[in-house]
Amino acid sequence: MAETIAQQLPVNGEIWHQTLQWQPSESQQALFARVYQGIVEANRQVNLTRITEPAEFWEKHLWDSLSGLAPWFEPEKPEWLPTVKRMIDIGTGGGFPGVPVAIARPTWDITLLDSTRKKIAFLETLCQQLDLSNTSFVADRAESVGRDPAHRAQYDLAMVRAVGPASTCAEYALPLLKKSGFAVLFRGQWTDEEEELFMGALDTLGGELVAICPWETPLSQGKRHCLYVKKIEKTDKEFPRQIGMPAKHPL
Ligand code: SAM
Repeated sequence: MAETIAQQLPVNGEIWHQTLQWQPSESQQALFARVYQGIVEANRQVNLTRITEPAEFWEKHLWDSLSGLAPWFEPEKPEWLPTVKRMIDIGTGGGFPGVPVAIARPTWDITLLDSTRKKIAFLETLCQQLDLSNTSFVADRAESVGRDPAHRAQYDLAMVRAVGPASTCAEYALPLLKKSGFAVLFRGQWTDEEEELFMGALDTLGGELVAICPWETPLSQGKRHCLYVKKIEKTDKEFPRQIGMPAKHPL
């Protein structure tokens, strides 16, 4: 089945290279195909994604996840780019962006965090089957993990996709970062009004917006923006607020 799926996913084409200046090796392509197979099969028991058609899965899950790594793929790296050892994917769901990033960056230690225990149990099994030894798993709320000394200020990089408003995502991510660490926030449309509100939240949390990468997805031309936020000050210990507050009352 994996072979059939690999043929259906446009992973072999030049398209990766044309859009992201990166091309997966054959073993990485095989792993992407197995991620797809694993998710489609498990989706019957656990609600992981509504995107199961191969080309759409490739574009909206695999390609989109790796678009956040674009600055690391550039031949001339931007001067602000951090060195990453530990990364956390907050609200990973079916493993996005964390699992494709773990495949593309095998030297990074990737923590997959989600509050839904069933999703984390699925990811634990999947990553074991794929032999992704650079992954670890936490089934908890970002608000609790952000206050736990085992995780607070421990990460070089945090990624957050489709978990809520930008300020909510920043409140989850910034407490988990070391000083000078980065958060990558995956957004769809991004407006000046949103940016103005977001700048106020970043001030409160000790972050600075360093770069915004606008994207068009390669198959359906959807609008995307990746925001790169640097932690420039220690985050006050009142953040993240109590469970539910960052989502109910974004900063
Ligand atoms: N990031 C994945 C993606 O882009 O496909 C999943 C997005 S899904 C819409 C949002 C996920 O965030 C869900 O799996 C949910 O359980 C998780 N989530 C929401 N709030 C959370 C929180 N406060 N702490 C941890 N996980 C959370």
